[in-house]
Amino acid sequence: MALGHPSREATPKWVYYFAAGDSEGRADMSDLLGGKGANLAEMANLGLPVPPGFTITTEVCGLYYRNQRSLPEGLVPQVERALERVGKETGFSFGNEENPLLVAVRSGGRASMPGMMDTILNLGLNDRTVQGLARNSNDERFAYDSYRRFIQMYGDVVLGVDHAVFEDILDNFKNLNGFSFDTELGAGEWREVIAAYKGAIEDSGSAPFPQDTNEQLWGAIGAVFGSWQNNRAVTYRRLHAIPESWGTAVNVQAMVFGNMGNTSATGVAFTRNPSTGANEIYGEYLINAQGEDVVSGIRTPHTLTIKAREEAEDPNPSLEDELPGAFHELKLIFGALESRYRDMQDIEFTIQNGKVWMLQTRSGKRTAEAAVKIAVDLAAEGVIRRDEAVLRVDPSSFTQLLHPTIDPSAEMELLTSGLPASPGAASGEIVFSSDEAERQKQQGRAVILVRTETSPEDIHGMHAAAGILTARGGMTSHAAVVARGMGVPCVSGAGAIRINEQAATLSVGQRVLKAGDIVTIDGATGRVYVGEVPMRQPQLSGDFASLIAWADAAGGLSVRANADTPKDARQARAFGAQGIGLCRTEHMFFDAERILTMREMICATNEAGRKSALARILPVQRADFVELFEIMGELPVTIRLLDPPLHEFLPRQERELEAVAAQLKMPIDKLKARVDELSEFNPMLGLRGSRLAIRYPEITEMQARAIFEAAIEAGKRQGVTVEPEIMIPLVAYRREYDILAGVIRNTADTIEKEAGVRLAYKLGTMIELPRACLRAGDLADGEDGADFFSFGTNDLTQTALGLSRDDAAPILSAYATQGIYDADPFASIDQQGVGELVRIGVERGREKKPTLKIGICGEHGGDPDSIAFFHSAGFDYVSCSPFRVPVARLAAAQAAIRAKLDA
Ligand code: ADP
Ligand code: MG
Ligand code: MG
Repeated sequence: MALGHPSREATPKWVYYFAAGDSEGRADMSDLLGGKGANLAEMANLGLPVPPGFTITTEVCGLYYRNQRSLPEGLVPQVERALERVGKETGFSFGNEENPLLVAVRSGGRASMPGMMDTILNLGLNDRTVQGLARNSNDERFAYDSYRRFIQMYGDVVLGVDHAVFEDILDNFKNLNGFSFDTELGAGEWREVIAAYKGAIEDSGSAPFPQDTNEQLWGAIGAVFGSWQNNRAVTYRRLHAIPESWGTAVNVQAMVFGNMGNTSATGVAFTRNPSTGANEIYGEYLINAQGEDVVSGIRTPHTLTIKAREEAEDPNPSLEDELPGAFHELKLIFGALESRYRDMQDIEFTIQNGKVWMLQTRSGKRTAEAAVKIAVDLAAEGVIRRDEAVLRVDPSSFTQLLHPTIDPSAEMELLTSGLPASPGAASGEIVFSSDEAERQKQQGRAVILVRTETSPEDIHGMHAAAGILTARGGMTSHAAVVARGMGVPCVSGAGAIRINEQAATLSVGQRVLKAGDIVTIDGATGRVYVGEVPMRQPQLSGDFASLIAWADAAGGLSVRANADTPKDARQARAFGAQGIGLCRTEHMFFDAERILTMREMICATNEAGRKSALARILPVQRADFVELFEIMGELPVTIRLLDPPLHEFLPRQERELEAVAAQLKMPIDKLKARVDELSEFNPMLGLRGSRLAIRYPEITEMQARAIFEAAIEAGKRQGVTVEPEIMIPLVAYRREYDILAGVIRNTADTIEKEAGVRLAYKLGTMIELPRACLRAGDLADGEDGADFFSFGTNDLTQTALGLSRDDAAPILSAYATQGIYDADPFASIDQQGVGELVRIGVERGREKKPTLKIGICGEHGGDPDSIAFFHSAGFDYVSCSPFRVPVARLAAAQAAIRAKLDA
């Protein structure tokens, strides 16, 4: 091995010994020892049966890479001393021909990266020690089986010979000699295989397989540190945001043998069922096997418990049947581990001649459903507190519980995949247009709307569809954002799909599907299947309800919903929203019948034309609001005045233009000229929001009237006072606010006189421009200043970063890979930059008006990290799409609990 330059300073402690009741490490030292090493030490401290060994710290990994992949010299004596201690403890001796100590050299970083890095078993075997092992164990077959395993792993991991080379040799050997299972090979056969393995290593041109056990050890330690940078590990870290700098530790541990015959075994177990959360042992084992045999698929492993065997109707004996003593001991150990770690554990064990050995424990990964059940059960068992239970569940995983999911045991044919744009699974007949989607829906059919991309014109079809599939567009494309908002499952950007609208077909390679054929999409994974796939319905079980109730008791931010339609509002209430934080009135106009009147209004060339169209919109809009107020009862409802650039409503297609022209009795050429006149180079920064209202105050007047009249009517019907919160979008100057607030107040005064009632209402503004944050004091100042702020963090992000959300997809992916953005700033708020603007806005607004109510209504309102930020910034509420309300309730509670714990 290559050693670094000798250091003149005393070497730090790089090696931590562990053995039953005698460990230098602890569970909370995983930064230094890696998760595996820290937990081995902890289990040993608990007196559990752990083969003795030692951990080389993650610091050494850092040194290894800083030192051109060589290990510091000072490590050698520390390792030698620890190895001797292991020998004393076990009664064996490393490299000794009579009585050889064999070790496992195991990777293990701070965060679990299962199977991503390398581990080498049976190290210390060579042509002579293998004979010692055979004599000691009185089992030649076992000794040579172990030796061939070692040569294969060493050849693969340290010498870089492809593992397929070894697998081919073994397969050929078994075929030629009529064996089907590895367990059928005796010592003689394994000797032949070993000779072939060594030959293959020589032929590969790599260094020969070393007979010197010290060379083996250092080669393996170096290779395991080296595996931190293998492709699998690098990719895994990128996907899971694990820092490169953490490094892995290396564990060197005495071997125990599950391949010593029929009272030996190896297995994996969860202390509870990781897919349902049920409090039952779950896992698999193999008799007479070692290490990776269980997961490698060479032999099919069997169940651990009698119950599981019966449920699976497995003819093979369970561990409980086969080795009841060992099983019973394991059960006791699992109990001890759960009480120590206070969580469900994922465990690796080996049984050698009936004796149980623990090789690993960690908190187990689990489904969202299991996470909820386990957290609630542990609290009920008194193992954890309720607020801890609330902290135990990942809020983002909650969405999985609120949609049907594909039955994992179902058989299915994969068509293609795209991006997991909006969770949930849905089956339906393929349709290629939004009008068709709506027609089919009215006939009671479930449809999947398939489009190259969607646009605002597709809203009605997206509403009607059971699921949406697009060939283009990223996670923040129109389809993705709107689908998430609606809670409709969506797979976007399935690039392999070709759509032929004329022929009404879609194809993926040679596979062609036509309109009416059934597909199933899974918006949680991005997969698309042919035909209908069995689903599991969301279970808002008792556990789920308990957890949410505990979350609400934590006193976090209140959670409202963004809801534009009665359907959304009902959903929001069903998920426990405490009001509507954003009702976007423009969505009310996309409806097929209404959009014509809306277009008429926009294209009118004078106020009279606009007023006539508005007069027809008024009753429709009023009816919408009445329904919304009735659904929400006394809960607050914030209504935003018309916001989007008018171009979103403009007629484009010939038949749309004709319809509008007819309605306006305007020649079509004149209409086209009007449409041209209204088109803008950069609509996002054009005539929209308060600017639109200032240009056409009659729109604001109509909307205010619709809101107030609806409030009176809904209030009368229910015998309550409805107090709408009216919100003016895209304000930057106090004067803009005053002009529009003036229009609204005048309208209110008029209606009060007409109806002879007193109106209760609040006026406020969206904060979505940097200037609005900086001048928040102006906006809130005085009696007539805003009663509330609602941060529109989508636009605030666009305007603060100068980045158009609709054009961001390719930029985002490049910026993510280069580490410029930590996260998609439209999904999780940029806390440093945009966040500072937000904090300034809150501070300056409250300075002028301490009672100022502050909320947020962008996509960020449903993002757990962003919610924690809004909590710390002093917000009163967050508002998010109805389907994210439970997520937000949990995230808000977690933010409050963490803040309390930190205080
Ligand atoms: P991974 O992180 O990929 O799970 P491990 O280091 O846990 O890698 O090793 C994989 C498997 O090797 C273990 O599940 C266990 O079956 C086997 N193994 C590891 N250490 C030992 C040991 N000391 N004795 C026997 N088998 C071992
Ligand atoms: Mg493991
Ligand atoms: Mg906005």
